[in-house]
Amino acid sequence: MPRAAAPGSKRARVLGFIRDRGEISRGEIAAAFELDKKTVSGIVDELLTASLIVPTGFRESQAGRRQELLALNGSHSNHVGIDLGATHIIGVLTDLNARPLDRVFFEIRPGLPVQIILDQMRTITRSLLASPRATAKVASIGVCVPGFVNPRAGVSLVAENIPGWKEVPIRAEFESAFGLPVLTEDCSRALGLAERRLGAGRGRSDFILLDLGYGIGMALFLDGRIYSGSSFKSGEIGHSVVDPSGAECTCGNRGCLETVASGRAIAREAAAGIAAGRSELLAGLTRGRGEDATAQDVAIAARMGDPFAMDLLRKAGAAIGLSLANAVNILNPASVILGGGLITSNPILVESIGAGLRANAMPGIRDELALEVSTLGVDGSALGAALLAARPVFEGA
Ligand SMILES: [Zn+2]
Repeated sequence: MPRAAAPGSKRARVLGFIRDRGEISRGEIAAAFELDKKTVSGIVDELLTASLIVPTGFRESQAGRRQELLALNGSHSNHVGIDLGATHIIGVLTDLNARPLDRVFFEIRPGLPVQIILDQMRTITRSLLASPRATAKVASIGVCVPGFVNPRAGVSLVAENIPGWKEVPIRAEFESAFGLPVLTEDCSRALGLAERRLGAGRGRSDFILLDLGYGIGMALFLDGRIYSGSSFKSGEIGHSVVDPSGAECTCGNRGCLETVASGRAIAREAAAGIAAGRSELLAGLTRGRGEDATAQDVAIAARMGDPFAMDLLRKAGAAIGLSLANAVNILNPASVILGGGLITSNPILVESIGAGLRANAMPGIRDELALEVSTLGVDGSALGAALLAARPVFEGA
């Protein structure tokens, strides 16, 4: 048996380059890698034989010669990505090119028992594995979960926002159920992977992604790589302290950003405001379920001009902007991408975060910084999980 090429082999790098460029000729590959034509032809032939790439047509070169174009073969394999959030499970089926083929969305109530959540995740996986929209065999499954994850061990260490969720052996649970390779990662990093490949992070080596939902997560891309930290716990901006004498946080400390600006905190403030009669509009929007008001309700009320809701989002945005400014001053990224369920259709929050960031970051750093909003929508993390699942195909090419 020939030995599998090591990750980062020349063939793997050429395959990644073809994927990133979309369509490319042998000559362009030779120029980009400073390789001679014979070496490129050898690599391309091997990738064609492995069905990892396909010829897609011809283009006239400037010298008037026909050049064959090559592209990644999306139908080489399909991959499943599962995203567990505090209030939802989303599953996607994609081809090797990260093109979505099928999708399952499932709402969950915070506080469900761990085994029931795992059962739901497996049910969604099963339905995607049997999808009539598949274009190839499913080769692997990616699962992202919130909180601390050890991707090497395939274990979700702890998710502060899911009661009882501790030391969950995701890889073992899914591999034994489906007999396929399973990769796992934190949901914010999965969203970061999706942004890097499909969204606002394309072509960027240094960016930070803020994942704003029920909790607040972050993915760091530094020098072209995801930065996970010494024990996979980087990016806890949600637990940066904004008020040392503030409310107790799920992590045990006081006054973390999550206690004032997460989806959970905004929802709690909204419920209190409704009970105190501070917003007729929010009370009307959430009639009969005022104590279960959500951050989405607040976003809707704010868009309708409700002063209480607008004020809640402005305060949350200012706190997030301040924490982001500190992160930006330390890391000097080229861009900050705002993503996550709470960012979608929430212009007041986005504006306030931008204002807080501009007011507090160092001028020299701030002036070069791009602030962007994710366009991947609620499926971003699930797409990132599918990209994670497909990674061994590229690394092992
Ligand atoms: Zn905390």
